[in-house]
Amino acid sequence: MSQKRDLRPETLAVHAGKRTDSSGGPLVDPIFETAPFSFADPSALAHAAEGEPPDAFYTREGNPTVASVEKKLAALEGAEDAALFGSGMAAISTAFLAHLKAGDHIVATEDLYGGTPRLFRDVLEPIGVTATLVKTEPEPALEQAIREETRWLYIESPTNPLVKIVDLAFVADLAKRRDLMAVIDGTFASPILQRPLALGFDLVLHSATKYLNGHADVTAGFAAGSAEKLEPIRARRVRTGPILDPFAAFLVNRGMKTLALRIERQSQNALALSQALAEHPAVERVHYPGLPSHAGHEAARRQMKAFGAMLAFDLKGGLEAARTFLARLKLIALATSLGSVETTADLPWLTSHRHVAPEKKRALGIQDGTIRLSVGAEAFEDLRDEIAHALSSS
Ligand code: PLP
Repeated sequence: MSQKRDLRPETLAVHAGKRTDSSGGPLVDPIFETAPFSFADPSALAHAAEGEPPDAFYTREGNPTVASVEKKLAALEGAEDAALFGSGMAAISTAFLAHLKAGDHIVATEDLYGGTPRLFRDVLEPIGVTATLVKTEPEPALEQAIREETRWLYIESPTNPLVKIVDLAFVADLAKRRDLMAVIDGTFASPILQRPLALGFDLVLHSATKYLNGHADVTAGFAAGSAEKLEPIRARRVRTGPILDPFAAFLVNRGMKTLALRIERQSQNALALSQALAEHPAVERVHYPGLPSHAGHEAARRQMKAFGAMLAFDLKGGLEAARTFLARLKLIALATSLGSVETTADLPWLTSHRHVAPEKKRALGIQDGTIRLSVGAEAFEDLRDEIAHALSSS
């Protein structure tokens, strides 16, 4: 099924990108688990090498199963094109490397997934692309850091791990005004909850390992935007080879069919849990954009369909209380990833932000007793009871 912009996201998540239609044949597309394609004669091979028919030459360059998922992702983001990768970092690094060259400068908010500043330091800086990180709240101080050489404004929203919200229209307007590209890592929201391209962003990047796949059994990532912005990204992917394997693409596609359902249920669970946690005497503070007390609540209401399924909370007892809490969990696993149907807990102080200096962590708002929860699709009552037990002293 070709991209149909008039269908609603819930329908697109199920149908968009499908190769077969209702006129007969398999209901579910077969997986093209092949590296090369074969040809009747040399001129057919020569045509395929030039992309005619598309995605039927050699899988590093493109593959029908991968292409189906890309069409679905593009439809969900409201994009002309999307390109699928073997991980979120593969999508993010390829986007940077495809668009930026020595001498270029990025201004980014400082609340980023830990792998991204490390990409700046270890991959981009050595080739002459530099980045300045600025405070995310109360309003990202991006404009003050723009220089002559600045090419990109780069943000995440909601952020990891404190679920801060960046005003997307504000960033897109600034980029337009200063003739820069506005780029977002939208992993925490998924395209079901927010559509940055419609607000003026040029590129949307995601780790599809998280909500898109939704079952914690694949790593994947994608970039979406106009055909013009995707062209260098696709070309770079052919050169460096980080395309997603067809079988993994099939799994992402299968996961995405329930994306809207999962996000709805998981967001409801997160809202209810955040309200319960906010009342608990062992909890100092809850970070969840669905709570009116959250600094990004109004912006989240404007730009998101629901408040998402990520939340964090600070325990009054600090690191010791956090360790005790995690040790008492039975259903909820201690795991670093997020976005799956199973609820997972994480301790950013010792895991994702272990390389960040303690004073810097505190400046970002991360305490040694901060627990991050990726809320799953289980029954709310079971999650509530599990958390209440883990917080109790008995
Ligand atoms: N972006 C965000 C916001 C993430 O949370 C992650 C991983 O946790 C990534 C990017 C990297 O994705 P991947 O692990 O699929 O490379």
